[in-house]
Amino acid sequence: MQAIAQRSLYRARRAIEGVVRRTPLVASPALGRVAGGDVRLKLENLQLTGAFKARGAASALSALDERARATGVIAVSTGNHGRAVATVAGRLGVPATVCVSGRVPRHKIEALRATGCELVVVGDSQDEAEAHARELMERRGLTLVHPFDDPAVIAGQGTLGLEVLEEAPEVRCAVVPLSGGGLIAGVAVALKAADPAVRVIGVSMERGPAMARSLRAGRPVATPEEATLADSLQGGIGERNRYTFDLVRELVDEVVLVSEAAIARAMRFAFEHDRQVLEGAGAVGIAALLEGAIRPPEGATVVVCSGGNVGADAFLRVLADAEAVDPVPIGSAPGTGPA
Ligand SMILES: *Cc1c(COP(=O)(O)O)cnc(C)c1O
Repeated sequence: MQAIAQRSLYRARRAIEGVVRRTPLVASPALGRVAGGDVRLKLENLQLTGAFKARGAASALSALDERARATGVIAVSTGNHGRAVATVAGRLGVPATVCVSGRVPRHKIEALRATGCELVVVGDSQDEAEAHARELMERRGLTLVHPFDDPAVIAGQGTLGLEVLEEAPEVRCAVVPLSGGGLIAGVAVALKAADPAVRVIGVSMERGPAMARSLRAGRPVATPEEATLADSLQGGIGERNRYTFDLVRELVDEVVLVSEAAIARAMRFAFEHDRQVLEGAGAVGIAALLEGAIRPPEGATVVVCSGGNVGADAFLRVLADAEAVDPVPIGSAPGTGPA
């Protein structure tokens, strides 16, 4: 019944070996003291491209046949997904095109250009960039790499769960950032195949939690975007969602929401106590534990720190005064995708 079988995760792992990194799983005694339990952090901020998205991108690109690889792939995203697709494509020798709108900040354009992808800056909004991407896709026969709603992408993200199982087979609970749901679906498939009683908890921001609202409505619903520190969690799940909505509904035990202040405090906490630089989206799991919204069960609780791509200015503002932080609308123009 399930769209993603555990063996597809092992297949993905073989495919992406040597392209992406195996990231550290480290204990966080400070967070464990506050939350009351054995808490470990899975540090995807140290992943190639600074976020777990490199796993899904590598898995999706490896799954393409030779002709599709030779013709190339296309992505619409200025954030972690675009960067992952562009970087991994470069490593695998697959031509990549990334479409962004003219509103995207200069430093993001420069970072994308540095990957060697073909960068198309077009239109005045994400929607216009996307329309152009579809046209290019059809005209040139390119393959679109979706940020989450694709079995190969979900299997790629699930390789993170396989690593957790190997290093901490005693894991009883996983706390996972949640937007489109590709990450949590992959991790849940991995962990629940080993033991269905492992709790998998999703964490989103209070400001525009598309999956949480869709779960409540019983179907994918459009959710207006709001500025948030967790900019990588912005965006909808797609009104024609094919995979992740059902997987999340089936496999995720609970979804909790965190405030902007809690996200800021978590970023600061991770820096002070664990010496990790996390972006807002990467810190929502820590935020949920610090707030007491999740109580760790007996045994190990693994918190997925999904990414570290935060601008220096935004990070400094959080460190200077986590209580006073306003959401930093970097990359958060209305209509910007989750990735
Ligand atoms: C994309 C992203 C997420 C959310 O992943 P989904 O698969 O869309 O749920 C979480 N954290 C970071 C850093 C991301 O880039």
